[in-house]
Parts: sequence; structure tokens; C-alpha cells
Amino acid sequence: MMDGFLLVLSGPSGVGKGTIVKEIMKQRDDIVTSISVTTRYKRETEEEGREYFFKTVEEFNELVNNNALLEHAVVHGNKYGTPKHFVEEKIKEGKIVILEIDFQGAIQVMNNFDNAVYVFVLPPRKKDIEDRLRHRGTESEEKIKTRLETAEKELEQLKLYDYYLVNDYIDLATKRLSDIMNEEKAKRRQ
Ligand code: 5GP
Repeated sequence: MMDGFLLVLSGPSGVGKGTIVKEIMKQRDDIVTSISVTTRYKRETEEEGREYFFKTVEEFNELVNNNALLEHAVVHGNKYGTPKHFVEEKIKEGKIVILEIDFQGAIQVMNNFDNAVYVFVLPPRKKDIEDRLRHRGTESEEKIKTRLETAEKELEQLKLYDYYLVNDYIDLATKRLSDIMNEEKAKRRQ
């Protein structure tokens, strides 16, 4: 069996990465998503082990010290990281493993991992980033401001990515991501 590969998905907070991933998971059985660990507070809509594994700062630091994370970064003031073991296992099983991580994490993966695919999700208009964050209503005004500042920094990293994916219509964006996966699979078969 052919090995799978890593697909790194980044993009500003609120751009709809999570929705695209949810949709594509319904359509394909060759992909899995990595569930990150984070020190962020748990939102009311979230469940332990579904969106994230929620950790204290001490627990998180222990994972870092034990070299259990493939990458980790501070995003909007909280720590986030990707458990290494799960990713390695699933790639061996032939899966496409989706990492929904920020650009700092993506850069670490670029430096440590061969053959990953890097996709940056963009809104059709820059202003949509702010509108979507406000519409989601999960963040305070202060947190929205931090996320907008991070979005600006993130947009500067676009050039590092292999593909840009404009999330104009969810069905179209999902289809484009699926096409990227097929293309990358075909490349690896050659
Ligand atoms: P949220 O707090 O909205 O769930 O996530 C905020 C941002 O953290 C996301 O846009 C995502 O890019 C980033 N993120 C989530 N998990 C990880 C991770 O494991 N590593 C890194 N580097 N970033 C992550």
C-alpha cells in the first residue's frame, strides 16, 4: 500500500477551514483529521477529544518536553500543538492526514517533514475575515481584535503555500480541495 501524506491547511480564523474539512470528511474515506492539543478554554459548543484535547499549560509543556508534538505554536495567546504519533500511524496506513494549523506550525512542518502539501484558505474579500468572526459570535471584542491582527500576519505568509483555496461557496471550495488531493495522490503514484 502507498503511504499517505500530510495536508496542511492554514488561513485566517473564521475563514471556514473547519466547515470545509467537515464537508470533505463526508465525501472521502481516505482522509483523517489530526486533533490538536490546546491550552485554550473550551467553547460551549466543543467537546473534549472532538475539536481538541484541552490541556493545562503544565500538561502541554510536558508533551513538548517528551517530544510528543510534531509542531507547536502560540496562536492568539494560547498554545496549540499536533500529536506526532497519530499523524505517523495514519500516514503509514495510507491516509491523507489534514492538519488545520497556523503558519508558524506550518513552517515547522516544512522544516521537518518531506512531501507535505500546503493549502492556504482565503475569503473572497479581505473584509470577510472580520465579518465572519463577528458573525460566529464565539469571541469577545478584544479577542476578535487579536485574531484580526494575527490574520494580517498570516496573510503575509501566503507565498510559502503550494495552493490557495478561496472559500467563496462551500461546495466549490470543498470540490477544489478534493481535486487538490486527487492531483497530489496521482503525483505520488507516478
Ligand atoms: P481556534 O482557537 O479558533 O480553534 O483556532 C485558532 C487557530 O489555531 C486556527 O486558525 C488554527 O490555525 C490554529 N491551530 C489549531 N490547532 C493547531 C495546532 O495544532 N498547531 C498550530 N500551530 N496551530 C493550530
